[in-house]
Amino acid sequence: MSLKFFPYQLTTKDPFGTAHGTRYHTDIVLVSLEQNGFTGYGEASMPPYYEESQDMMLSFLGRIEVAELLSYEEISEVHAYLDTIDTQHTATKCAIDIAWHDLKSKQRGLNLADFLNINCKDATTSMTIGIEEISRMIEKVKRYNHFPSLKVKLNGQNDIEVISEIRNIYQGDILVDANQAWDTAAQGINTAAMFESLGVGLIEQPFKKGALSLNNALRDATSIPIVADEDCQRLGDVNNLSQYFDGINIKLMKCTGIYEAMQMIKAARALNLKIMLGCMTESSIGISAASYLASMVDWCDLDGNLLISNDVARGVDGSKGQIILPKDFGIGVKINQHIDFKS
Ligand code: MG
Repeated sequence: MSLKFFPYQLTTKDPFGTAHGTRYHTDIVLVSLEQNGFTGYGEASMPPYYEESQDMMLSFLGRIEVAELLSYEEISEVHAYLDTIDTQHTATKCAIDIAWHDLKSKQRGLNLADFLNINCKDATTSMTIGIEEISRMIEKVKRYNHFPSLKVKLNGQNDIEVISEIRNIYQGDILVDANQAWDTAAQGINTAAMFESLGVGLIEQPFKKGALSLNNALRDATSIPIVADEDCQRLGDVNNLSQYFDGINIKLMKCTGIYEAMQMIKAARALNLKIMLGCMTESSIGISAASYLASMVDWCDLDGNLLISNDVARGVDGSKGQIILPKDFGIGVKINQHIDFKS
């Protein structure tokens, strides 16, 4: 049995512009977990604003006793063990969580949906349009106009103009993500009023993380659902957020993986919250793992692997907007040959 890793850097096809700034690269670490001839794969993605690094992850992995990790037959026990090493490091734990699920479902000859008892239905993903010059954003909308929905990043500066121009040439669902860029309730209310007339389907994280009451002022003024992203990380956040948001954006990397994501979905449903399943810039390993949960949520934004030029694996195909799951055991990914895991 073994736990191996492979640090890597994903490169985006286009500049990835959000209200946080523009990025071209995202660090990831892949892990492989081998037991009795079966190998499970996982991934941690580390965008800079989440303060987890490849070095931190490698030192965490060095503290894992592989025999102990693989002695657990319940994923809850795996997470309890990882929490004894460190209570933080959500992306690192996510990589282990995905690899464990991949390994255990392969050992039982099941794909992840059957392993988790999920009845998969048809689902689609949105494609993200990052912030650039409007003309370049429009070019990208034309390139991706076969997607049933687009998630458009905004920065609070020319938001109405951007969405008006996109609506002129795109008939599908437009979801917007302000990434905390709106400052005041008045700014939110005025912008949302225009967005209603443009048929915007959702507004994600309009205000600064923690500025919760501003969301209520906005919700009183608009019928567009307001969804928490930066404000919603873990299961423990969900209950409180139901007073301030209509929905939450769950990402495996924020919440330590599939196990806690499933609990968050259950908690959100019990509180009548809508659910988006999102992602970071990730390879086909992380995106494939998340895709098995797609039919449990209201919106999927699982395009991380479509935005990069140097994927490390083949798995789910969302390139046409439909989420087509791989037909294989586990999470169903095939790792590219140049990936050389080290112990
Ligand atoms: Mg977001």
